[in-house]
Amino acid sequence: MRYVYMNKKLLYLFLFILAGCNENKEVSPNVFFSGEIVNPTSDHVVLYKGDVFIDSSSLDKNRMFSFKLDSIEDGLYHFNHAPEYQYVYLEKGDSLIIRLNTVDFDESLVYSGPGEEINNFMMEIFLANEGEKGLIDRLYSVDAESFSRKIDSLEQLKLDLLNELTLESNISEKALQIAKANIVYKYATYKERYPFRHKKLSAKKEVPKLPKEFYDYRKDLTYNNKNFTYLRPYYEYMVNHFGNLSSMSCSNGCDIKDKMVKNHLHFNKHKLKLIDSLVEEKELKDNLFRNVAYDYLLKVHDTEANNKIFIEVFHALSGNNKHITEIDDLYEGIRNIQPNKRIPNIEVSNFKGEKVSLQNIAKNNKTVFYFWSGANKKHLTNMSKRVLELSEIKPNYNFVGINIRTNTDDWKALTQKAGFNYSNQYRADNFEELTKALIVYPMNKCIITENEMIVDAFGDMYRSFK
Ligand SMILES: [Zn+2]
Repeated sequence: MRYVYMNKKLLYLFLFILAGCNENKEVSPNVFFSGEIVNPTSDHVVLYKGDVFIDSSSLDKNRMFSFKLDSIEDGLYHFNHAPEYQYVYLEKGDSLIIRLNTVDFDESLVYSGPGEEINNFMMEIFLANEGEKGLIDRLYSVDAESFSRKIDSLEQLKLDLLNELTLESNISEKALQIAKANIVYKYATYKERYPFRHKKLSAKKEVPKLPKEFYDYRKDLTYNNKNFTYLRPYYEYMVNHFGNLSSMSCSNGCDIKDKMVKNHLHFNKHKLKLIDSLVEEKELKDNLFRNVAYDYLLKVHDTEANNKIFIEVFHALSGNNKHITEIDDLYEGIRNIQPNKRIPNIEVSNFKGEKVSLQNIAKNNKTVFYFWSGANKKHLTNMSKRVLELSEIKPNYNFVGINIRTNTDDWKALTQKAGFNYSNQYRADNFEELTKALIVYPMNKCIITENEMIVDAFGDMYRSFK
């Protein structure tokens, strides 16, 4: 059955190409995007432009999805087949077919049909970058001049390939721009990281002295091209670039001891102000601001008073941020689990299916709440080992496991397999509510309480019990 179906597709494609040869053709405003997913990991494919949902398609019995899109904007999209995603560049008149196998998602992905050139090229670059990771990591230890030279030559190889492609096929100006940015910003990111990676590898106190032309590439880059906002290498460049700029200007102009970030509140406020002064493009600015908020609120664990100052500065600079509700929720969540506050009164289910509140579980004892999910088997194995160890060294604590994002049957089976004590295992029925209220990040995090009151909501199953 599938072959018949495929043949129809191929015939259709053939006709389409013939039609495309017609001299006075008119570009169809429609875009077709379809494909076959081998070993599907979800029953549908979702198409996005940036963070905007465009359409979703269920897989049919032949594991095919298809989108027919009317008059969409030319540009970079991405499709998601949970848990993976990849880019697709779409232009009016395109009729793309993909084939991919989830066992080797990126490596297996092939585009065919009108629009294939740019997409296969982007994929080729993506894979080349993946393959270069080890080499780049080693390169950070060489001196700045050699590093620059090597990075430039790797970049030039990709740009040469792009040149060849533009000679062989007629890809549009917009597609060309994106393909080029995909290369240029990737290599620029490595240079933005260089001083810090080099310092770390060489175990020196200060960042290396750089030749004065080291950052010359910056003058050809832009903070304000809407088409690049959701291009991963572009965004990563911006994150690293602002990290670099804030560190450099902080260590020159601000009161920082030993050129190290000691005052995280200052450093992150400084970063917000730099982004605000340099980036005009609203969406990029909003995303970068959110990145700083997450970095600071989620990772620094500063005092309640400092967090409050940060969020006030954030609102003053970016009150109309498109992610403001999400950031406010994060701030609120963190504020509610500061030391000496009562643990949030969230309900979870026990093994008998009864609802129990966290406050009830933590009543009249010393409790350590830890978290696990059925999706991460390795983490689960490590956690069960760790809980066993800790129960022996810290017998006065009650170790309580909270499962998130696993259905009830799987949860019970996995609990048994991991050798957990049933009476100390609970499952979050509403894991979104729970993860928001308890800020479950990173996965090794634990919350330590005494008689319902929080001692440390940002503990770590390994570091907190040395
Ligand atoms: Zn500063």
